[in-house]
Amino acid sequence: MIKPIKKILVANRGEIAVRVIRACHDLGIVSVAICSDCDRTAYHARLADEWYHIGGSPSSESYLNQDRVMQAVKDSGADAVHPGYGFLAENATFAQRCVDEGITFIGPRPETIRGLGDKLVAREMAIKANLPVVPGTDMGADNPDEALAFAKKIGFPVLVKAAAGGGGKGMRVVESADLFQEALDSASREAKSAFGDGRVFIEKYLVRPRHVEIQILCDTHGNHLHLCERECSIQRRHQKVIEEAPSPIMTDELRERMGTAAVSIAREAGYVGAGTVEFLVDQNRSFYFLEVNTRLQVEHPVTELVTGVDLVKEQVAVAEGRELTLRQEDIRLNGHAIECRIYAEDPSGGFMPSTGTLEHYRLPAGPGVRVDSGVLVWSEIPIYYDPMIAKLCTWGRDRTEAIARMQRALSEYRISGVESTVGFHQVVLANKKFIAGDLSTGFLQEEYPDSNYRTFSPELAEDAAIAAAVDKLLNERRITISQSGNGRSRSSGWVRHHRRENVKRLGGKH
Ligand code: ADP
Repeated sequence: MIKPIKKILVANRGEIAVRVIRACHDLGIVSVAICSDCDRTAYHARLADEWYHIGGSPSSESYLNQDRVMQAVKDSGADAVHPGYGFLAENATFAQRCVDEGITFIGPRPETIRGLGDKLVAREMAIKANLPVVPGTDMGADNPDEALAFAKKIGFPVLVKAAAGGGGKGMRVVESADLFQEALDSASREAKSAFGDGRVFIEKYLVRPRHVEIQILCDTHGNHLHLCERECSIQRRHQKVIEEAPSPIMTDELRERMGTAAVSIAREAGYVGAGTVEFLVDQNRSFYFLEVNTRLQVEHPVTELVTGVDLVKEQVAVAEGRELTLRQEDIRLNGHAIECRIYAEDPSGGFMPSTGTLEHYRLPAGPGVRVDSGVLVWSEIPIYYDPMIAKLCTWGRDRTEAIARMQRALSEYRISGVESTVGFHQVVLANKKFIAGDLSTGFLQEEYPDSNYRTFSPELAEDAAIAAAVDKLLNERRITISQSGNGRSRSSGWVRHHRRENVKRLGGKH
């Protein structure tokens, strides 16, 4: 039965709330924003047709508070909730509550979220669906002696992982047997405090793998399809910072096998809606199931750019009970897309969040550029939430064009008042290995080994052309800002540092 949605409450903030509100506008559906104390003038609240203040700035008093979110749903008369990602997006209790109150939850069924949210249950499902999994065991803190014996059998390094894990929490790489017990205990403690569930398990730690994930889309009529892959190997502390589609290592044959595997677990789980099946791919191009994310992914725009499919619109259609109009054979890739996550963080200070007022904020534009920004000039960057302020995506006919456009777009981006990761991306995108597509989840650590990312890649430092370009760019930036009389220039300290390093190496002055 088709139940058209008339009004969607977007239970989120920042760029993803803006993204969903835009889809509502495109679809002629009334959009409702919610906001906390410090978000009363936030972009997402201004852009929505209606907004409701739901509580204090800490997320426990607002975006994570189910009672307050449900009250706003009732007060607004919304007939559906889109959770975005993070906050309540993978909370099965919240999804169930929506269902119980007759509100359409735009996402998978609560029981699917619950099952796949547990990495051990998901692993079992993957095995049942004949997917390759990383060698591992569900033995953990409860069974430390057997767990250690297993770790010795598969060989170190091993990875201790939290069953309820997410966001890299409750994860420890263990290099040798003498460090095993301590890692088991501390991962379990961290998982208990972050997720209220201290269960941990062990996997073989793959060396220099790539993170390659498959976007899936399934309806309530038994249609399951995939929208090819995204490569998300550029990570910091197991968190993605640059993503792209397609993956530079993909072949038609590997895509076919990974896509089929992703669809099999979706069938096994009775999946409905948009989701992502994550894999690690080793140096022999063997792939291993990692987990399923039961929501829209941060990096979904790169898939939208290369497939032309609006994933949020598809989510709404599926939630209304419509049959997918797309068939697997309709999914074709066109060109290449890259996403850089723009954080209000200080790369020269260990990526500490940088809070304050955006005194100057100019977005890049032009051919092949898409910016999903959650902020405007004079927006306040609060301390309470994830510091990602925008996603900058570029599209090109091929990877080289997408990279060139990304460099152009990054050089147009102006952010002052807070530190940002724009300069960090400029350096990574200019890295020869990155340009060659020679990626792995260890890329950043290997190329920039200092924990504060202060060490400039020697390879890059020798590249006079790139160094000079960065230097010129930063000079221009300084001049622009001082001429416009716009107050402080806060170009990234990280880039300033590297610029000095480069100039020194090149024998120049700074
Ligand atoms: P989370 O849910 O906390 O994000 P994931 O299971 O999705 O955790 O893994 C996040 C990242 O951790 C992966 O992209 C990869 O970089 C690393 N990782 C996870 N499992 C392994 C493994 N077995 N070997 C090597 N790296 C891994």
